[in-house]
Amino acid sequence: MLTLRPEDIRLGCQAPDWRVALEQAAESLHQAGLTAPAYRDGLFQRESQSSTYLGNAIAIPHGTPESREHVHTTGVRVLQFPGGVEWHDGQRVHVLVSIAAQSDEHLGILRQLTHVLDDDSVGERLAAAGSATEVAALLSKAVVEARLDAETLCLGFPARDTHELALAGAARLRQLGCVGSDFMTDVAERTLAPMGQGLWLIHGERSVEVPALALATPEERLERDGEAVKGVFCLAAQGDAHRGLLERILALLDSGAAAELPNADAATVLARLAGESATAHTRLARVLNAHGLHARPAKQLVQIARQQGLPIHVRLAEGGGAAVPATSLTKVINLGARRGQQLTFSAEGDNAQAALDAVCRAVADGLGEQVLPFDESRERITPSADTAPPEPLPDDTPHQGVAASPGLAIAPVFVLQTPRFDYPERAADPAEQQRRLHSAIDEGAAQLEALEREARGGEVAQILSMHEEMLRDPELFEAAREGIQDGRSAEAAWWEAIETAAHAQEMLADRLLAERAADLRDVGRRVLGILCQVSRPEPPETPYILVTDDIGPSDVARLDTRRVRGLLTARGGATAHSAILARALGIPAVVGAGERVLTLAGGCELILDGERGRVIPAPSAARRATAEQRLAERQQREAEAWEARFEEARTRDGHRVEVAANLGNTAHAVDAVERGAEGVGLLRTEFLFMAHAQEPDLETQVAEYREALDALDGRPLVARTLDVGGDKPLPYWPVPKEDNPFLGLRGIRLTLTRPEVLETQLRALLMAAAPAAEQAPRPLRIMLPMVKDIAEFRAARAILDRLLDEIPAAERATDVQLGVMIEVPSAALLAPTLAAEVDFFSVGTNDLTQYTLAIDRDHPALSAQADGLHPAVLRLIEMTVAAAHAHGKWVGVCGELASDALAVPVLVGLGVDELSVSARQVPLVKARLREFDLAEARVQAELALAQATSEAVRDALEVR
Ligand code: PEP
Ligand code: MG
Repeated sequence: MLTLRPEDIRLGCQAPDWRVALEQAAESLHQAGLTAPAYRDGLFQRESQSSTYLGNAIAIPHGTPESREHVHTTGVRVLQFPGGVEWHDGQRVHVLVSIAAQSDEHLGILRQLTHVLDDDSVGERLAAAGSATEVAALLSKAVVEARLDAETLCLGFPARDTHELALAGAARLRQLGCVGSDFMTDVAERTLAPMGQGLWLIHGERSVEVPALALATPEERLERDGEAVKGVFCLAAQGDAHRGLLERILALLDSGAAAELPNADAATVLARLAGESATAHTRLARVLNAHGLHARPAKQLVQIARQQGLPIHVRLAEGGGAAVPATSLTKVINLGARRGQQLTFSAEGDNAQAALDAVCRAVADGLGEQVLPFDESRERITPSADTAPPEPLPDDTPHQGVAASPGLAIAPVFVLQTPRFDYPERAADPAEQQRRLHSAIDEGAAQLEALEREARGGEVAQILSMHEEMLRDPELFEAAREGIQDGRSAEAAWWEAIETAAHAQEMLADRLLAERAADLRDVGRRVLGILCQVSRPEPPETPYILVTDDIGPSDVARLDTRRVRGLLTARGGATAHSAILARALGIPAVVGAGERVLTLAGGCELILDGERGRVIPAPSAARRATAEQRLAERQQREAEAWEARFEEARTRDGHRVEVAANLGNTAHAVDAVERGAEGVGLLRTEFLFMAHAQEPDLETQVAEYREALDALDGRPLVARTLDVGGDKPLPYWPVPKEDNPFLGLRGIRLTLTRPEVLETQLRALLMAAAPAAEQAPRPLRIMLPMVKDIAEFRAARAILDRLLDEIPAAERATDVQLGVMIEVPSAALLAPTLAAEVDFFSVGTNDLTQYTLAIDRDHPALSAQADGLHPAVLRLIEMTVAAAHAHGKWVGVCGELASDALAVPVLVGLGVDELSVSARQVPLVKARLREFDLAEARVQAELALAQATSEAVRDALEVR
């Protein structure tokens, strides 16, 4: 609610033009302590995108999303210009409502201002107002409409008499927190008034918290004084909030259409009460804009609706608001539609369908803004009641999932079902709800701190501390607070805020940052659990394999590694944060194994093979004995591998193959060296870019890369240039919406559209790798992602060559190589042309497999088939190595395949010179190399190449 105090309003301002007026607005926000001086630039930037003129002589300057970081406190300052100012779009402005908003509060403010726009005289009155109180009164009128939505409908109630039916409507309003107990007494004492067509009305005014209207219809026919009772409206009245609703009911009665209400379903009742006629055509469209239907997209919508040349109405699909003309800007803004909400458009007549299609298409396309799809199914996956329950898994039979963390486990299962949270959607006491949310967040943070102390550093503690930061995110709280102000319960508002943020994250980052969405939901469930007082079931005291639908990163972090032997999930992929964490903790894991695993009985014995990605329930004694032997051997191997981790990586007969580590964070380079890594074989620099709200500048990048190079102490660093775009866009680098982002503007294709970004990154890498005085050179290998042919390489090479000429040798790396990743089949097929010019190749088997087999590497059902040991992928690697070696160049493999125990000899046999794997895998991969000699590896490679499918490859290799 916009509550303006006199000190927020400055009367009698003067400005020769809009720029000066805007400077004054910026200054007043700054003077009030709401913003830093730099917010001014955000205000101007925003005007350059489009005018913030609202209507009736009011403009609402506010900053761009990027400038939000300069907002200290959310607030508003109003400047009155009695003489008026000509705005840059030619409009005359008398009042500037300048907004400092940390998130989307301007939407709420905008919504409250729209009522002012209904009154044409308001501009003059604002210009003439002689006191701040007068201006505040003109701007601050709140708009309240009585609540009516699916929840206030009580259809087919088994009432024995009319009185009971009326009370059922009242009880529903009480249940929803709209009224207190006095309302019930008030209603009980009043008599029903007939409205006609079988409909009756009863109302109460005592203890009304939220004005609302319920409709109760009887299951069986009822009569009163010889007249049919088909439905009772129960009104909780407050002021004239119900006026619009009652007018619409009267109109329905007048037209005779009210008679159909008692037999209609909830959607039809709401449609009729919103003013939609039975002959209207309707279409639904979801709002996709990140910040909802704010002024700019609303303006577009209105223009498109006007172009259709026939009346189109729109309303929120959920809720009892009237359908408003889609041609009225103020009314459209006043819907307050947020991202994800559905709009119902309606129109009548011959061209109605085509007009509705055009409008809905425009909404789906983002109304002039870049939008990301809203995928409801990823937020709530609730099995529908009529789907058959999953079949139980047969005993002693292997069941395939996705290998997520290597290792073998044999233990009874503990099946953890995701907790159910039951809570009311709405609540009538915003202050109390806000207090509850605050205290639940505090308790959640305290829990996380305690877990963090227990974790005593490392990756787990880092994730827990990130969770704590997420929990304390003021934007998240602000979004929930807004929901609470709109009448939602603390639980509902909080979960909505979490889902919105998680979804935005999911859409933004896809695979590499998808785990952040899981993290957000994980944090959200923690608070929800506290609010609903739902605690998680206690696992057994004895060792067990955890089986669950999906698992949040903090659940993994909390796993007691002394008792949890393994992890099996129905959903999720190998690249989710939880899988990465399981690897970091050394817990064998199989994920995405389907919901049948949830049918396992608690305590049932299971063999879990994290390497092959499969599980065997209730194994036979013979199978169990074999597995136990393998387990003992594995443990022995791990201990030996750790002991020998600093030895050079060589095959049994001394053939040298370097083993390096894959890193996403330069700070982890120290740990990688400690685990025996002989260098970094893949630095995913996009993580550095994703960690910043704006493109990191030269100094920031130099400092980051230097951290890794310092830790490597003369070992080589292979840094991949920025690999974003398409499925993993950077927020500050918008890319147009694409139907097939995996085949779109990404990797080197995207970077070459902004060569200055590539140049800064290359410069930073070269500078960071400058050897310190009298120190050994720091080998720097730079590689380009997603290269499809030589042209892209040459374009990047030209920039690098220029920089090498330009930067004095003493200030930059001297041992530099430039290579390409082989991730696209065309690059492998053209390896001979590439090999003549590049310094090295590194095969990204994750993407190479995806593009060769045409299987999305994150596909929930298919990703298990995206196996890099497919003979087609192996042939491409063979061609790559042959071409490279013919030109004396080296080849690495940095995809997940490089740490697959079965694949290691095959890759070595194919001639690969370097394997880059996750740091934890380094000792094991080195140990694996010592188990065979080169001749054996070549035989394995031949054998694999001769197979027809990846299953055949695995079978052929396993037999040996
Ligand atoms: C790959 O595609 O194999 C690779 C290493 O790159 P990323 O997994 O980062 O796409
Ligand atoms: Mg890749």
